[in-house]
Amino acid sequence: MLQILASALNAFPVACFLINSEHRVIHWNMACEVLTGVSARVIVGTKDQGKAFYACDRMVMADLVLDGAASNQVDALYHGKFRPSSTVPGTYEAEDFFPNFGKEGRWLYFTAARICDVHGTPIGAIETLQDVTARQQAEAALHLSNERFKALSWIDDLTQLYNSRRFHEVLDNEISRAARYAHPLSLMVFDIDYFKQINDTHGHQEGDRVLRLIAEQLRQWQREADHLFRFGGDEFAVILPETNAAAAHSAATRLVEAWRQFNGNGAGAATHGSTLSVGVTQLKADDTAETLVRRADQAAYEAKRLGRDRVIGA
Ligand code: GH3
Ligand code: MG
Repeated sequence: MLQILASALNAFPVACFLINSEHRVIHWNMACEVLTGVSARVIVGTKDQGKAFYACDRMVMADLVLDGAASNQVDALYHGKFRPSSTVPGTYEAEDFFPNFGKEGRWLYFTAARICDVHGTPIGAIETLQDVTARQQAEAALHLSNERFKALSWIDDLTQLYNSRRFHEVLDNEISRAARYAHPLSLMVFDIDYFKQINDTHGHQEGDRVLRLIAEQLRQWQREADHLFRFGGDEFAVILPETNAAAAHSAATRLVEAWRQFNGNGAGAATHGSTLSVGVTQLKADDTAETLVRRADQAAYEAKRLGRDRVIGA
């Protein structure tokens, strides 16, 4: 019976091989010769099927299926890369990378099924293998391009800082982290004073230049863990991990002073003497992202109300 199956499989375009009940290869079709580079003449009659696919001599899926191996035994060899077939019990399928095939290795999708005689006694097993490298590469390229697109969608074009879309994701993560480790976290928001006047007097492009200069100053001022954002317009935010209210206040004061000094150091023409109004606040135990942002916003608003060019803590 296995011999009839074997001759039928020789013209089959999918790589496959058969083993008998002693785990001896009894058929290795032409497609399998092409895929593995191992000729039927060499392998038929041996138990070398493992060596054809792996650097060491080990059981292949057909061997495991023939022995009626339990899922956990299959898993030990295939490291969670296999799935039991949903339709035929005791049959498995898997996808794995084979570094020894071709120049750069190949991805193979393979299945194995036990073959039984009319009494249900196992007499061998069949394994099929398909090269799915092109599909795997296309999926990897798509994944990379999605990741790149996602990263781009987080960036503010003008300043190259993160944008408000990214702000909410980072803030949620940092709030969870601060709560989990009981570490302090602070938020700082600021807005340029009388920015509209810069646009109105010197033109929108000059306004853009000021926004880019602020981003540059922020990058020089930031500590490694700080996350910088431009919300849009002339509004910016900084998430300060591991920072309590007092440290956040002094960091914000350093920024306001650095900007003032930058103005004074002859950059005033470029910055048009602009100043910053900053609100800072530390995360409290019962805060949500929303309440934290609202408190920081209110503090920045208070800084405006009290005359601008200052830091207010809340
Ligand atoms: P305040 O001191 O109260 O903050 O006054 P303000 O003039 O800065 O007022 P506000 O912050 O409300 O104005 C922000 C202005 O920023 C309004 C808008 O025309 C301008 N703006 C928003 N986005 C951009 C941008 O990308 N480039 C430039 N040049 N201007 C922008
Ligand atoms: Mg403003």
